Amino acid sequence: MAAADSAGLNAIPLLPANRAPLAPEYLWPAGNKAAMFLSFDVDAETAWTAKDPARYGELVTMSFGGYEARVGTAKLLEMLRQQELKATFFITGWSVEAHPAMCEAILKDGHEIGHHGFHHVMPMPGDPMLVEEIDRGLDSLKRRLGVLPKGYRAPSGEFCEELRVLLKARGLTYTSSFRDDVRPYRHLLADNTPGLIELPVTASYDDWLLGLSQRYSRHTLLTREQVLSLWTDELAELRDWGAMATTVLHPQCSGRPMRLRLLREFLEHARAYGDVWITTGEQIAAHFAACEAAG
Ligand SMILES: [Zn+2]
Repeated sequence: MAAADSAGLNAIPLLPANRAPLAPEYLWPAGNKAAMFLSFDVDAETAWTAKDPARYGELVTMSFGGYEARVGTAKLLEMLRQQELKATFFITGWSVEAHPAMCEAILKDGHEIGHHGFHHVMPMPGDPMLVEEIDRGLDSLKRRLGVLPKGYRAPSGEFCEELRVLLKARGLTYTSSFRDDVRPYRHLLADNTPGLIELPVTASYDDWLLGLSQRYSRHTLLTREQVLSLWTDELAELRDWGAMATTVLHPQCSGRPMRLRLLREFLEHARAYGDVWITTGEQIAAHFAACEAAG
């Protein structure tokens, strides 16, 4: 190993990277045994342009994202109305600007709208675009939709201390990005002050990994039986644990016919338990904050 690498490794603190206290075991409201944070990430074209803006000229690549505004989101909204469920939609600021009618339809149906960056730039430590991504995203949500978001999900699922501090300073309540728990917990900033509430996610409920393949994002497409098996097994066990499921669904994937069909079946399965609280991130974070305040 090179000397520089050795120095870098030896500079790593001998402490956990995330020093948040363990998740408190608050009971879910109304006698529910478990919770499901039903959430969608509305990336549209930004899923494809974030890593290379020149792809905006690649019209078939763009059409994967464009499906969200043309078909996928409306179909998902229709299904959620039929199921009488409310969800959270994390939307990039660019998508709000480019597809206002799609976003207004989400809002009109009473769903929560969360922050998902502006250009879907992955928040890496030291990235000069960190602040602009947050502030431009906030501006689009407020100016175009009248929304002051409470929740944030990191584009491409990365995070850093600067972002934790920034989201707190901008008044957000919760983030749903980390992979290190199965219950909500409170972040602890490096200066030992409390940060946002975390509603953790898991790759098991990320439809992108299970049902979307493109030359810039290659995955094996899983069948209905494979996806339902993953989703129902995860739910059965986490319900026994009294934990929460967080979905990470994308209208360009789960808004496709067969994918929407299996999502409907999974939601019907979850509802049939009668004690899984299927709700928005705002509701789960508010419940956590109330329990925390009650001590
Ligand atoms: Zn995304």
